[in-house]
Amino acid sequence: MSSTATTTYRNLIGGKWVDAQSGGTFTSSSPANHDEVIGEFPASGPADVDAAVAAAKAAFPAWSLMPAPKRGEILFRIGRLLAEHKEELATLMTREMGKVLTEARGDVQEAIDVAYYMAGEGRRMFGMTVPSEMPDKFAMAIRRPIGVVGLITPWNFPVAIPGWKLFPALICGNTVVMKPASDTPACVVRFAELLMEGGLPDGVLNVVTGSGTDVGHAIVEHPDVKVISFTGHTETGIDISTRAAKTLKRVSLELGGKNPIVVWEDADLPLALDSVVWSAYGTSGQRCTAASRLIVHRRIHDEFVEMLRKRVAALVLGDGLDPKTDVGPVINERAVERIAGYMEIGRAEADLVLGGNPARDGTLANGSFFEPTIFTEVKPDARIAQEEIFGPVTSIIPVESWEETVEIVNSVKYGLSTSLFTRDVNLAFRSIRDFDSGLGYVNHGTIGAEAHLPFGGTKATGNGHREVGQTALDFFSEWKSVYIDYSGKLQRAQIDMTFADQE
Ligand code: NAP
Repeated sequence: MSSTATTTYRNLIGGKWVDAQSGGTFTSSSPANHDEVIGEFPASGPADVDAAVAAAKAAFPAWSLMPAPKRGEILFRIGRLLAEHKEELATLMTREMGKVLTEARGDVQEAIDVAYYMAGEGRRMFGMTVPSEMPDKFAMAIRRPIGVVGLITPWNFPVAIPGWKLFPALICGNTVVMKPASDTPACVVRFAELLMEGGLPDGVLNVVTGSGTDVGHAIVEHPDVKVISFTGHTETGIDISTRAAKTLKRVSLELGGKNPIVVWEDADLPLALDSVVWSAYGTSGQRCTAASRLIVHRRIHDEFVEMLRKRVAALVLGDGLDPKTDVGPVINERAVERIAGYMEIGRAEADLVLGGNPARDGTLANGSFFEPTIFTEVKPDARIAQEEIFGPVTSIIPVESWEETVEIVNSVKYGLSTSLFTRDVNLAFRSIRDFDSGLGYVNHGTIGAEAHLPFGGTKATGNGHREVGQTALDFFSEWKSVYIDYSGKLQRAQIDMTFADQE
């Protein structure tokens, strides 16, 4: 077992909790208070990855042969256990990465939802049966497990995203080696402990902590890892994809976003306001689906900007465990510096309405906080309108025509989530058709995806795969087409008994 609270945690390899072979460690600390150490973790390397992959490979035959409904029963038990430990996991998450407790509970709930959903898939795991073109011949396609899967996860949804990847991978009969982000290893190690307690056989899940270069590269390049599922920055995704190509791995990439909310002139403004505040400043703007662009009709621009300024100015910054806090810290000091760098760029490109500085006063002094920030009169091609800042910052772009709006929505390199506030049903449907994104919302902010529909984006947000929902099964299983001829004679497809022959 890993030890508790702020002491030493270990890797999970073959059902045992072990140190890094090098003996090296690193610490994780709270972004709300840098003096609060969450724990010490193995600084692992390729040798630890080799051991984890070997354990996953050894566990694969028995796990892949276990009937999928039985695997589903284990996932169901795990879902129940996660629900029982929801508060504990959420509190750990808030301490380790800063999001406010209500949101941390939602993060754990996403993993619970996917556990239950995928448990049910164990009794479906639908294949296909089709009529054969020949008489007395049966034709079907079945799903098969692939093998050892490598999962590399980010810090911003430290339980939900591991759950999104892990549960479909497991229900399909694969075994797993997972590397958590180095900013949130405690969340993932504790999550893994609960999964083992829920009844996962030894070796089916292995967790190796350590850096992207030491552990991430080793997983991506390992010849016995057949599949990689990664969520993180677009640049990291490109690096992973390039390395994985050498061993012909299947790779799913969930990457960055620059998501717009369009507030049209006929919008319900109070509703749009609530949704913008939730989408732009929730998780301190560090969601892949964060609304970092607001495209606002010129006729209501001044009124809406003033409503937003007032509301955002009243948001309380602080420790996410404090119920009075609306916005927690950003993940670390590097993030504060990156966001501050964008403030200089933004001041030169646009009008600063609110915020724009690191927040260091009083109780915030020992954490990584940034003032919720609004820019307006932002040009669509400005850097703050094009690049993922990943902080509590939104850029308002005024517009006058629908054609211009569609062009601006689609002008960024990403395509994750888009949203439109309007009462015009025609525009609502046009937005769904014309906004280039994997998720589309009407009269709802850019966040709020559910476990049973595909999740992912277009363009530089990914490489075409979708997480969760049924589509996740397509990524984590191999199709095998099967033909059973019970005619007792040679029947040649495309040659004997074709329609043309009968003419
Ligand atoms: P990141 O820096 O790319 O890191 C993600 C994970 O990859 C971490 O575990 C990291 O390890 C590891 N890693 C880093 N470099 C690597 C390499 N060269 N090879 C293999 N692994 C490597 O991203 P992040 O800062 O954690 O997450 C924020 C990004 O994720 C944002 O761009 C956000 O939009 C995106 N995101 C996308 C989605 C989506 O579904 N589209 C969802 C959530 C987040 P270390 O922590 O040890 O560096």
